[in-house]
Amino acid sequence: MKKGIRFEKHVQKSTFHNPMLGNELDTQEITIRRDPLTGYQSAFNPSLEDKVAVFFGPSDQALIDRLAQESEARCFLCGDNWKLATPTYPKELIPEGRIQVGESVLFPNLFPVAHVHAVIRVGDKHYIRLGDFEAGMIQEAFQASREFVQALSEGEPDVRYISINGNYLHPAGASIPHPHFQIAGADLPFTYMEGLFGHSRRYLEEHGSCYWSDLVEVEKELGERYIGETGPACWLASFSPQGTNEVLGILPDRKDFLELKEEDLGGLARGLSCVLKGYDSMGISTFNFAVYSGPLGEKDESLRCYIRIISRQNVYENYRTDDYFLQKLLRNELILTPPEILATTMREVLE
Ligand SMILES: [Zn+2]
Repeated sequence: MKKGIRFEKHVQKSTFHNPMLGNELDTQEITIRRDPLTGYQSAFNPSLEDKVAVFFGPSDQALIDRLAQESEARCFLCGDNWKLATPTYPKELIPEGRIQVGESVLFPNLFPVAHVHAVIRVGDKHYIRLGDFEAGMIQEAFQASREFVQALSEGEPDVRYISINGNYLHPAGASIPHPHFQIAGADLPFTYMEGLFGHSRRYLEEHGSCYWSDLVEVEKELGERYIGETGPACWLASFSPQGTNEVLGILPDRKDFLELKEEDLGGLARGLSCVLKGYDSMGISTFNFAVYSGPLGEKDESLRCYIRIISRQNVYENYRTDDYFLQKLLRNELILTPPEILATTMREVLE
């Protein structure tokens, strides 16, 4: 076992008279897991396992289809609408104003939340099921992203902190169904990334190796959460997830986006496509993801490019949020499907 990585579990007991068991005294065990790098906690109570449907009702496909149909006519990403309706970058940064790769188009967000905030149209279809996110359309969006990051590194070198992100459908934060990704970047790292960099650097100092490549090695050896590979990208279910059904795809040889080659983008795209197929097979209709990078051009030995994918609440009427005081204010996550079971499901769809 690699020296620096510990998979810590801590068991808590909760005792009460349970009316569902004739008011007998009932003791439930809650297992708290800690992330080996950050220490972030997640909680698993096996008695919640068969109550998943209470927390996550089934997706209402008829409702999704109706919302998609209603919004299609005014969609600025459909057809050629983007040519008229979307903003453009100054030509000193992007000569054509927007970056187009196949059906993907990258342009500035009208209401940026960071110095750099680009939107990328992903494919020409207004709504698709999670199982229909083909690797090719994702790869085109990643290619447009890489071209943009390359242009930024030359035109706006202050922007060293970058991530590629996605929200799909409204419970996940998307304002329109049409698949789109977003690039956020600035001269300051985002809060989560700042923490991540600090923890990763400390790990390198203490253990003399990179946490992210160590994690791939250790998980591969253990096998229970390891899913497999798509080219250079290695996939696993997080030991202590920070979102529902969290899957990581790590590029153990790439420190920042400027190092990404075609096979890296292809591997990430294929893996993301497979994970979404896996979610689809679980009845899930929404997701978020972020691809993280070390500071551009710094070749920081403690960091690696990786993607974190989570599912969100399903689309149905009056769904309850999956992000309440526990996650939002106490920053603990709830595990409903144990990572080891999730890995088994994902192994079946990873090609
Ligand atoms: Zn559309």
